[in-house]
Amino acid sequence: MSDTSEHIVIVGAGHGGGSVAAFLRQYGWKGRITLIGDEPVPPYHRPPLSKAWLTGAADAASLALRPANFYTAQAIALRLSTRVAAIDRGARRVMLEDGESLDYDRLVLALGSRPRKLDLPGSGLAGILELRSAADADLLEGAIGPGRVLAIVGAGYIGLEVAASARSLGAGVVVIEREARVLARIASPPLSAFFETHHRRHGVGLELGAMVAGFEGIGGRVGLVRLADGRAIASDAVLVGVGGVANTELAEAAGLDCRNGISVDQASRTSDPAIYAIGDCSDRPLPLYHRQARLESVPNALEQAKQAAADLCERAPPAPEVPWFWSDQYDLKLQIAGLPFDVAETVQRGDPATARFALFHLTDEGVVQAVEAVNSGAEFLGGRSLIGKRRPVDRGRLADSTISMKEIAA
Ligand code: FAD
Repeated sequence: MSDTSEHIVIVGAGHGGGSVAAFLRQYGWKGRITLIGDEPVPPYHRPPLSKAWLTGAADAASLALRPANFYTAQAIALRLSTRVAAIDRGARRVMLEDGESLDYDRLVLALGSRPRKLDLPGSGLAGILELRSAADADLLEGAIGPGRVLAIVGAGYIGLEVAASARSLGAGVVVIEREARVLARIASPPLSAFFETHHRRHGVGLELGAMVAGFEGIGGRVGLVRLADGRAIASDAVLVGVGGVANTELAEAAGLDCRNGISVDQASRTSDPAIYAIGDCSDRPLPLYHRQARLESVPNALEQAKQAAADLCERAPPAPEVPWFWSDQYDLKLQIAGLPFDVAETVQRGDPATARFALFHLTDEGVVQAVEAVNSGAEFLGGRSLIGKRRPVDRGRLADSTISMKEIAA
């Protein structure tokens, strides 16, 4: 266990970084903790940025991960607007962009991910936006309003959540997606079809299977999106939401093993035993599926924050969790548990026409690998529990909504 002189430095004051600092104190770390982040505000919740915060249903204070006095009360030295430029692993030191350096005994990298950029003609025009930070959300909010048209490139979670929020604010919305269906990378085809119908019903224009060729404007400001087939989509602003890229550069430059993210083990340790990596920037084992993957979700950042804090405090590791995710669009609460690896069949429970249903994805032995639940909390919880149990289920009972999920998952 720590002595009071030992120093943990956490780089990245987002969901993972803020949480690991808190878990370290909760698990009894007595040494020093420094939390360094390049944003000007303490750690905050990003999910509302595309949802409640954008529509005005949440204020800036409610975004904060912890109350303002938490860091002082817990003796966590919080250094905001501070960017780490390099890691000297030999000296166990991080170099800050302003030339200062800080020594560490253990280092936690919670660097997150950033929006993928489109390298297309006109990409630099004013009014072409992305959404990762509270500052990005401020710019986006200013661009959305009644009578204005927002073009969204990418029909992933962020694109569709912003589409729903923008429609509720009276803006016109056109979503342009390269794939033939919405949520193509993350949802099953029937779920994509359901969300497509729902968005069209709410007046969102959807251009599927459409490639963006570039952006054009007048006076340096975007005015239209040009598609590869020559068509033009007029818009007052554009949100580009085409996926995230892990922030691995610091780790790569320091010689840590990286693949799709910073490679870590089940305790979130990197290839250097003094350095941990958690959250969106890490490529982690998924013991349930015998695979390694990079996940971008709040539950994942929290689970890895617990893993790293437990290991640093020499406590028993937390039990492996079933990965899960949620998305709110209009009156729809989508909850997804598990990942659809090696899926042989899908069992539907409930009726999409009622906007209350769940899709269970099973292996050929009938083991539930993933569940996609729309406005169906019991199915999400029951499905998550079944995924963890790894035993075959009776497909007929699963599809029968008259049998409770509790009974099926027992
Ligand atoms: P982050 O929270 O991004 O924190 C990383 C921090 O590190 C950032 O502040 C970054 O600026 C900082 N940083 C990077 N490099 C340096 C450096 N060199 N020096 C100092 N600081 C640095 N997840 C869900 O589960 N459900 C949702 O509904 C959902 N909605 C989302 C909506 C939006 C608009 C966004 C952007 C994300 C959403 N997510 C959602 C994803 C979720 O917010 C992320 O998975 C989560 O924030 C990951 O935490 P993290 O600590 O890994 O990264």
